[in-house]
Amino acid sequence: MERKYIRDVKSGENVLLKGWVYELRDLAKLKFFLLRDSSGIIQCVVKDKQLMEHFSELTLESVIEVKGKVKSADIKADFARKDAEVEVSEFEIISVAEKLPIHVNEKTTTTEFSNRLDYRFLDIRKPKVHAIFKIESTIMKAYREFMTKEGAMETVFPSIIGASSEGGTELFRLKYFEHNAYLSQSCQLYKQMLACAIEKVFTVFTVWRAEKHNTLRHLNESRQLDFEMAFADEFIAMDVLTRCVQHIIKKVLEDNKEELKILNVELKVPKSKSMTFKEVSELMKKHKIGIGKDDLTPESEKKLGELYPDTIVYVHDWPISGKPFYIMPKGEGLSHGFDAIYKGMEIVSGGQRVHIPEILEKQLKEKKLDVKDFKNYIDSFRFGAPPHAGWGMGLERITMLILGIENIREVVLFPRDRTRLTP
Ligand code: ATP
Ligand code: MG
Repeated sequence: MERKYIRDVKSGENVLLKGWVYELRDLAKLKFFLLRDSSGIIQCVVKDKQLMEHFSELTLESVIEVKGKVKSADIKADFARKDAEVEVSEFEIISVAEKLPIHVNEKTTTTEFSNRLDYRFLDIRKPKVHAIFKIESTIMKAYREFMTKEGAMETVFPSIIGASSEGGTELFRLKYFEHNAYLSQSCQLYKQMLACAIEKVFTVFTVWRAEKHNTLRHLNESRQLDFEMAFADEFIAMDVLTRCVQHIIKKVLEDNKEELKILNVELKVPKSKSMTFKEVSELMKKHKIGIGKDDLTPESEKKLGELYPDTIVYVHDWPISGKPFYIMPKGEGLSHGFDAIYKGMEIVSGGQRVHIPEILEKQLKEKKLDVKDFKNYIDSFRFGAPPHAGWGMGLERITMLILGIENIREVVLFPRDRTRLTP
């Protein structure tokens, strides 16, 4: 008999199911268990006398095979199929689970988060946790789908670099034979070189930032969805971003109905709105909210989220002093850089880049960076470099915001933060 997934079983069929024991209910005359596989959970009833004797051998999370007949039913159990149950004719234990160190079925107790992370391989068996990562997988799939349709080429970049790409101080150092090297904090310089050669590129890239802060929205290792294109300014890049986020959210709405229900999330395809940095400053003044002279504060991002719900708010004409050296200046202290704020938090930084070596050298010096360290990069713009623009979106950031999750660690399987290096 061929194995069926729980999602696909229909009443009246005889089926072979494989999965994990999610819940056990041992009543005097009847015995039930809930069986879980990657597609769902179904109630299984044991009525047969002989089988009942073996029921006590089942432990939570043991892996079993079940044969039985599917019957129509009206099931109340959380996360389980509501319309059907299996009357068990046979079951076989394939792998016995020992006493669990954390609860996988959280009907009565919840486990502390750090404990859950220690046992993430068990934690992800929970329907709610599994739902988060199914949605994150849709987000990555939708991103690739959108970019491919857009005519962008997927690329991969090195993660070990010889010099800082951003000029920040938040780099993890490492020894690379007899050289000093760093873990990449951005693929910025690579994607620019490539866009200047082949026009449209994208990547899903892991970045490392040795930021010491322990916040709910920062990780020390995170993933970025990066895009860069030639012959573009920041407004073209913003348009691509709007359509990209809209496509991602449409896909989640289409493909993850069940998961959104499990997580109790209501989601709308966002609109977009753009404002200059100056307009945002004035707006915040009116609401008595502090904003930096060249950067938004977390409070001002939050306020933008409140004022413009379900909207990607683009803040452009950003002061050049608040942007990295590779952002194109616009004169009068402004730049071609922008940030995108969604649901009260920055999801993206982007902008038109500098493709003119002299401006790059000038801006590097202004940021007190050593021009020598960026020689290869600067030289790449000496042989026919078009104006170009792009952006980087935090995968975990967009996931947490779409799902209304407060702690970014919830949307990373194996998070790396200030205190955690395992599992
Ligand atoms: P923030 O101001 O939120 O700290 P940033 O301006 O330092 O972010 P960028 O270098 O602009 O970050 O990175 C692009 C995007 O990557 C950000 O908009 C955000 O979505 C995400 N991101 C940046 N840093 C982190 C981090 N430490 N952990 C998780 N995501 C991050
Ligand atoms: Mg930024």
